[in-house]
Amino acid sequence: MANIWDHYSSAQDFVGYKGQQVGFLDRDGTICHEQPISRAGEQVALIEGSAEGVALLKHHGYYLIVITNQPRISRGEADEGRLREINDALSGQIETLTGERIDHFLYCPHEDNACPWRKPNPGMLQFAALRLGLDITRTTVVGDSHKDILAGQAVGARTIQVLTRNLVSDGTPKPCQPNHTAPDLLAAAHLILRLDHISV
Ligand SMILES: [Zn+2]
Repeated sequence: MANIWDHYSSAQDFVGYKGQQVGFLDRDGTICHEQPISRAGEQVALIEGSAEGVALLKHHGYYLIVITNQPRISRGEADEGRLREINDALSGQIETLTGERIDHFLYCPHEDNACPWRKPNPGMLQFAALRLGLDITRTTVVGDSHKDILAGQAVGARTIQVLTRNLVSDGTPKPCQPNHTAPDLLAAAHLILRLDHISV
């Protein structure tokens, strides 16, 4: 695992990208609560404000890419097909509520920080930037974890930490220095529009 193209074969094509502004969103702890991956067919538990935040950015033309660490795959607790089902269910639930879908999902199945895709490494951001021809410094990374913020900072993206969880497993907040904080994804979406000088 040495470079960002190692996950290329597992990444699906970016559909529908037309050069618009891009937002990168963490999944668990930012859009939805951590998903018990073994339970098939259940609704994903959305975090308050997240569907509305996705919809607000979509209404203003943003292309939204989820970037998520999913080490349960390498641990054998779930397979990639199941992960895609959950991602589809998540996007479908947001669509039912708001009429908008998340555009694309990228994930790292590994547990080892040697993988360049595993946040806090910025491989997913770099991959998307190369595939889409993005100026990554004009994108925003939104996440609850210091790992999301560090990944964004590593490539010079704007970073917004949502204070929806922001705890490591022992309950101690892990410090990081995002550009901005927001109580949830809806507030983060309003902030992005304001920073990008888009009037709502
Ligand atoms: Zn990986």
